[in-house]
Amino acid sequence: MLSGALAISERLASRGCGGDVSCMRCGSNAETICHMLFVCPVARQAFALANIPSPVGDFSITEVDKNWEHLLTVMQDDEVPCMVRAAIPWVLWGIWKHRNTVVFQGKNGNIRDLITKAFEDSNQWQAAQSLPAEAKLHYPAKQGALERKWCKPVTGFVKCNIGSSWYSKSRLSGGAWIVRDEYGQVLYHARDALPASDSQFLAALQCCSWSIEALCILQVAKVEIALDNAMVIDAINSPTAWPRFSLLLSNIHENLSKFGSWRATQVASTANSVAMAISKSVTRDGRLQSYLSLGGPSWLHHQVRSEAS
Ligand SMILES: [Zn+2]
Repeated sequence: MLSGALAISERLASRGCGGDVSCMRCGSNAETICHMLFVCPVARQAFALANIPSPVGDFSITEVDKNWEHLLTVMQDDEVPCMVRAAIPWVLWGIWKHRNTVVFQGKNGNIRDLITKAFEDSNQWQAAQSLPAEAKLHYPAKQGALERKWCKPVTGFVKCNIGSSWYSKSRLSGGAWIVRDEYGQVLYHARDALPASDSQFLAALQCCSWSIEALCILQVAKVEIALDNAMVIDAINSPTAWPRFSLLLSNIHENLSKFGSWRATQVASTANSVAMAISKSVTRDGRLQSYLSLGGPSWLHHQVRSEAS
C-alpha cells in the first residue's frame, strides 16, 4: 500500500489507462490513494463507524505515509479499545474491496456491512493466530485429541451434536441437531432453514443458539454439546473474547444457564457427520421446511450407526 501499488484511477490515468480520474464512489475528487483510503466520504464513514480516531487536523489529502503513521500510532494506543486497534488493517482492506465492488461490479456496497465484515475477519484472524492464553485453552492441543467417532455422553447426560451449513452465494444457512442419550439411543433430531448470515461463523453461531433454545424447551437437564467448529466452541467457552457477537452469545448463555450442567466440546467432523448431513440437506437440497422429530432420521439410520463405530 505504501509503495503505491494500488491500481487506482489517477495512477492508471497517468499511465494512459483510462481517462477518468474521478472517484466513482463520491464522484468529486481525484481518486488518489489518499482519497480512496482516507478522505473519500465512504472511507470517512467507515472510520467513524469503526470508532477509529482521525488525526488532529484530519487525514492528509496528499501524504499516504503521514496517514499510515497516524494509524500505526492508533494501533499502539492503549486508550483505543483493543478490538478497534486490531480491526484497522481489516477496515482498510474493506474500504479497498468496497471501492472495487463499486468500480468493477457497479454495485453500491453497504458500509455497515463492510465494518461488520472487517471486525468479524479481525476476530477470526486473531482467534486463529494470536489467541489470548485463556482462550487457547479451549482449543484442543492437537487434532489427535479430538473425538473422531461419536462417543456416548457420560451417565446422566445427553449429547447434542450440532451441524451447520452455509451457502455463500445465497447466504442461506441450514441447521440441524441430534440428541442421543447415554446408551447411544437417538431421542430427537431437528432441522431448520436459519436466517441469512454474512459468514459461515455467524451461521454456525446462530445455529448453536437455535439448537440450545430447543434443548431448553425440551427441558433437557444435563447436556454435552458437540460441534466440529473450533471457533464457535471458543466463542461459547470464552464469550468475552468475541465482543462483536456479545448479544448472540449472551442469549446462548442465558439458555445454557437453564441446564443443570452443560459443556461444549469440539469433535472431529467424522464424529459429527449425522448432524452435518442433515444441515446440508437444507442448503444443498433446498429442504427448507423445519421439523422436530422423535428418534433419528430414517434416511440416516445407517450413518447414525457408522458414526459411532
Ligand atoms: Zn470518493
